[in-house]
Amino acid sequence: MLYYITLTQVCGLKCIYCQNTPDPRIQPIDLNYDIDILKNFVSLDPEPYICFYGGDPLMRVDLIKLIMDEIPAKKYIIQTNGLNLRKLGGDYIRRIDTLLVSIDGREETTDYYRGEGVYKRVLENIRWARENGFKGDLVARMAVSSNTDIFEDVLHLVSLQHPKFNHVHWQLDVLWDYPPAQRYDDFDKWVSESYNPGISRLIRYWVDEMEKGYVPGIAPFKGIVYSMLTGENIRRLRCGSGIDAFGISTDGKIIACPIAPEYKFNVVGDLRSSKPNQLPYSTVVGGPCNSCKYYDLCGGRCLFANKTMLWGEEGFKKVCGTVIHLINELRRVLPRIRNMLERGIVELDMLRYPPYTNSVEIIP
Ligand code: SF4
Ligand code: SF4
Repeated sequence: MLYYITLTQVCGLKCIYCQNTPDPRIQPIDLNYDIDILKNFVSLDPEPYICFYGGDPLMRVDLIKLIMDEIPAKKYIIQTNGLNLRKLGGDYIRRIDTLLVSIDGREETTDYYRGEGVYKRVLENIRWARENGFKGDLVARMAVSSNTDIFEDVLHLVSLQHPKFNHVHWQLDVLWDYPPAQRYDDFDKWVSESYNPGISRLIRYWVDEMEKGYVPGIAPFKGIVYSMLTGENIRRLRCGSGIDAFGISTDGKIIACPIAPEYKFNVVGDLRSSKPNQLPYSTVVGGPCNSCKYYDLCGGRCLFANKTMLWGEEGFKKVCGTVIHLINELRRVLPRIRNMLERGIVELDMLRYPPYTNSVEIIP
């Protein structure tokens, strides 16, 4: 299983959609349990994957190194804002399998959301990682909000050559705030005039590129199309939360989704008293997802959103509209992709993503 280990709440940035405000009432600011407790717990899992999580986990490089030295895992993963990457050093960066770095697209988009100069600093640090032998899956993690042009911003990131991202993934700035849609002048208009048309355009680009024998690493497209082609029935959250992915809060609580230790529905155990084999399916999405006709492919999108309904049912359904548009547009190009597979222009395996539950949620 995948464990997101929150090392600290501190991040060092104050992005528009997050405003990182560490709060000790939610969980201790920094990890405060004995690492041996984590070690004992993880040792009971025959296939543990560890994702370092925060805040920015690289604010606690000492803990990353300690855990990597003391606790064996099949793969190590980091989700980071990328600003402190060099502190990890070459020996450890080479042992990371998936490096997910927050970057929101073009320089002006990234710096608007994340702060002046962030884009350049992040790319410099990623180049350092590559130059120091990082050979794993480099994932650009975008937050997508009202200032994003989804076509231009994703295209920019998949086209970068130095550094070259293997994958680009994005999460919409939706359903995690209240009052709803604070960062949109008109959310419905943004979806219908900007986001959805941009997705359609991006899919056309993606399939045109495929004709050249290359599959751009656009994670949502790959994950969904692979499911369509293989007929795999997802019917489960693709991020794995509550199923085969769990967060460990800084005080050792086990939570289904790593972003929300303060919600009761989310707390499913404790490092000191739970065993990994007791955790799978300890919390799952309910309505409207489990009776939705897109559930087979969508998987429910987000446990947190499904349980909290912060935008109400109407707001939730508006976001579903973006998922449905994405799925339907991918269905439209499926015959072309099947034809390319038959002609041997691309192979099925080139579309498979993620290779294991690596914290990429697939559904934006
Ligand atoms: S489209 Fe919406 S309702 Fe349907 S499964 Fe996805 S998140 Fe749930
Ligand atoms: S998609 Fe939702 S449930 Fe899954 S990890 Fe992200 S916030 Fe948590």
